[in-house]
Amino acid sequence: VTRDAGMALEAFARLLGDEHVVRDAASVTAARQTTYATNRALDAIVRPGTVEDVRACLRIATEHGAAVFPISRGRNWGYGSRVPPRDCVVILDLGRLDRIVAHDEDLAYVTVEPGVTFAQLVAYLREKKSRLFAAVTGGPPQSSVVGNVLERGVGKGPYADRFQFSCGYEVALPNGDLVHTGYGRYANAHATPVARFGPGPILDGLFAQANLGVVTKMTIWLTPIAAHAATFFFAMKTQDRLGPVVDALRTLRLEGTLRSSSLIANDVRRMAFVRQYPWEEAGGVTPIPLAVREELRRGVAWSGDGSIYPPTIEHARADKARIRGVLGPVVDALTWSDEPDPSSPIPPEVLAIVHGLATGQPVERTAATAYWRKRGPVPDDLDPDRDRCGFISFSPAIPFEGSHARRSIALLDTCMVEYGFDPNLGLNCASDRAIDLTPMLLFDRDVPGEDERAMACHDAMLERLAASGYYPYRLCTEAMDKLPAADDDTLRLMATLKRAIDPRDILAPGRYDFRSRWP
Ligand SMILES: Cc1cc2nc3c(=O)[nH]c(=O)nc-3n(C[C@H](O)[C@H](O)[C@H](O)COP(=O)(O)OP(=O)(O)OC[C@H]3O[C@@H](n4cnc5c(N)ncnc54)[C@H](O)[C@@H]3O)c2cc1C
Repeated sequence: VTRDAGMALEAFARLLGDEHVVRDAASVTAARQTTYATNRALDAIVRPGTVEDVRACLRIATEHGAAVFPISRGRNWGYGSRVPPRDCVVILDLGRLDRIVAHDEDLAYVTVEPGVTFAQLVAYLREKKSRLFAAVTGGPPQSSVVGNVLERGVGKGPYADRFQFSCGYEVALPNGDLVHTGYGRYANAHATPVARFGPGPILDGLFAQANLGVVTKMTIWLTPIAAHAATFFFAMKTQDRLGPVVDALRTLRLEGTLRSSSLIANDVRRMAFVRQYPWEEAGGVTPIPLAVREELRRGVAWSGDGSIYPPTIEHARADKARIRGVLGPVVDALTWSDEPDPSSPIPPEVLAIVHGLATGQPVERTAATAYWRKRGPVPDDLDPDRDRCGFISFSPAIPFEGSHARRSIALLDTCMVEYGFDPNLGLNCASDRAIDLTPMLLFDRDVPGEDERAMACHDAMLERLAASGYYPYRLCTEAMDKLPAADDDTLRLMATLKRAIDPRDILAPGRYDFRSRWP
């Protein structure tokens, strides 16, 4: 702890009380762990309880030049958990700001503070007997709604592209100023929670995947529960079908039959969802041998899902007929959650889980996937950081076209196998024209050399995809400086903004600012 950092810690303690400046070695060491190798300096975890506290913390940080890293719940697993991309003095843990401050059933929104978790929001809506649901993700229910939006996380359902369905941010700036995006800056502005953009430049984007402010409140939009909501599941025997399936889904999305996200996943992704690595079947060998995959996948090489939200049975019949007509000819099986089909290769319990996700029910033990390569059993209290699970996420965006899907998936598949990892591959189709690829690099941090090999594999995927024109939409903390230089003056603009808004560089230095490439 340098002198200035020490003075900042004293000032935080004076402001919040010692109990909210966590400095014990065990807590700080735990907060420095993520699911891949990092070594970031960190002295304490600071826990403000109000917006005024947050503003005061930022003023203290700026005064003493002490870098702070904000987290809402810190379960950014696969992308860095609570660990900052560069050395920081403290984590600014916003978990105590956990109120649902507004709920409008007619206009279908809630306004939440950063500590509100998906589980909390789901429980709240249930208790209020709401006719609405919130888009949830395939990630942990104890992660925060705000943190996920600010990472531009991808969920399920019609509002899967979560950032697009949020507005009215309240943001504390590094100098302690408080700003509101959209209409929020005006007294008594009725449109604040329902219209994304007020007059003038749209500022929301400055605070998502960024390091220019700490979001202390935001509104997220909800979806009405549809009387005839249903989820379909499709299966493909071979990978050749991937291209035509992607093109069929795009047709359904662009014409409006499908308004919600689809996940297309390979056999390894599906397997890692329901079990750990088949050590016995594979004779202890990694990566998973093809013969073992073929045995375990029971004829389904790839599968996928999608959901519809019809208000009447007539709408439901028409949607289903259209989906059968467009998707049916290019898949080997198509099953609906509300039409039990004993001959389907898709187990009904899997359909129920996916339909639950698509209608706002998070899956409790989703993080068990991170234990795929661990030799011991999955514990009851999941904590991939503590348990040295190896997990690196990497999310390239590609055009919603079969040819791009085939090409980019082949690049990832080859690279993962080459480095000794299982090609755990998914295509998250959350918008009309683009797909986010979500390869999961899963390994065991207790195996000597795996940390290094996994990061080398990640870097090779990044490099090979970029060389082919595919760039990630979201990055792990170790990758912030690994993207190629920009071809224009964007990074000069980003540097100018950062220096103007955060002149002492105290807020999440290095987070999505690509500073190693600044001119
Ligand atoms: C098996 C598995 C499946 C997953 N599936 C998904 C998925 O389907 N979709 C998905 O999106 N993710 C997924 N994840 C990744 C991750 O767990 C989630 O994105 C999770 O929601 C992020 O954690 P959090 O919400 O607690 O965010 P936090 O860790 O609190 O926040 C994320 C980052 O945002 C910034 N931030 C947070 N709060 C603020 C604030 N108030 N102001 C300014 N900056 C802030 C910080 O830099 C922080 O590091 C998955 C993870 C696992 C293990």
